Formats: sequence, C-alpha cells, structure tokens
Amino acid sequence: MHPLNPEPLIEAAAIAARLEAMGGELTDFYRGKPLTVVVVLQGALFFAADLLRHLPLPMEVESFRASSYHGGRESSGTVTLEPALAGRETLRWAGRHLLVLDDILDTGRTLGALRERLLQEGAASVRSAVLLSKRKTRAVPVEADHVGFEIGDCFVVGYGLDDGGMGRNLPYIAAVSPPPPSGISG
Ligand code: IMP
Ligand code: MG
Repeated sequence: MHPLNPEPLIEAAAIAARLEAMGGELTDFYRGKPLTVVVVLQGALFFAADLLRHLPLPMEVESFRASSYHGGRESSGTVTLEPALAGRETLRWAGRHLLVLDDILDTGRTLGALRERLLQEGAASVRSAVLLSKRKTRAVPVEADHVGFEIGDCFVVGYGLDDGGMGRNLPYIAAVSPPPPSGISG
C-alpha cells in the first residue's frame, strides 16, 4: 500500500493493462487519420502520458485547462476552459480528428463544453477517451467513446485525480468516499 493512502480501488497494474488494450483500440481507429490529441489538465496528465505511449501514430498533442470543481468534491456547474499554453488562443482544428483525453466523466459538463467548443472551432471530428466513468445520470447528456473503467458514484483520487489539489501522484486510484456496492468494471 502507498504510504500516504488507503486501499486501492483500482491497482496500478490493472490501470497499465487496461491502457495497453485501449491503446490498441485507438491505434486501429485513428490509423491514417490526421490526429490531434487534446489533454484536459491537470487530471488527465498521467492517463495521457501512459496511454499515448501505446499509440504508435503520427499525432499532435494539445492541452486545455478545465476547472469546475474549484477544490471541492462537487461540480460547481460552470466549466472554465482555456488553452493550457500561453499564446495558443487561436488553435486551428480544421480538418483534424480530435481525441479528447480526460481523467473522469462525472456530470458530463467538462466533456460536453469542450466538445461543443472544439466542434465550433472547426474540428473534423471530436471523440473522447476517459480513464474512469461514473455510473450515474449526467447533467449533460454526453458519454465517452472509450472508457477505461466504470466505477460507482464515489469521489476518487490518484493517478492524476486530486482531492483539494492533493493526491495526484498516487500511482493507483483510491476511493475517498466509500464506493457504492456496484463496484468497478472495465
Ligand atoms: P464533470 O464535468 O462533472 O463530468 O467532471 C469532470 C471533471 O471533474 C474531471 O475532469 C475531474 O477533474 C473532476 N472530477 C470529477 N469527479 C472526480 C473525482 O471523483 N475525483 C477527482 N476529480 C473529479
Ligand atoms: Mg478535470
């Protein structure tokens, strides 16, 4: 067990095995297409770094900062999106197939808002992959095209996900609030 933390909900080895499989699926899908990966920071940092090693394809990698939780455990309802790198306010997506990577799908507001914005800015297509998807009714009706693991509606930390800014460096996923009996699948 990690010195700072509780029981894993999803072990590091299980994450690694799942990312290898997802990498294969994504490689088959994007082979021959002009691909730009859009990483949602900060949470998807670890997911993106490990997943993209399994996509031996030509690609560009961009990133957006998204915030809606403001350090709490509930979505504020408003999503702020900004390109993560200074000077990248006018990114050109025309003709590019975009793959958005986020750590977790919860209310759907983040993926919904980003998808809408990227399509408005001219993307040829926008698909998404998330490491985790909470099994729940979404505030915005959006689902990810590729999901690492489905989990119950609990708050999780580790492998890039934070609780009040802390815990991202945990090498596995742990539940902060107790997970409901539905457990995980993926
Ligand atoms: P949504 O916009 O409600 O779907 O939430 C997506 C964003 O909220 C993710 O990108 C995460 O940053 C954050 N988030 C949602 N649930 C959790 C959680 O259980 N732990 C840590 N961050 C979370
Ligand atoms: Mg996030």
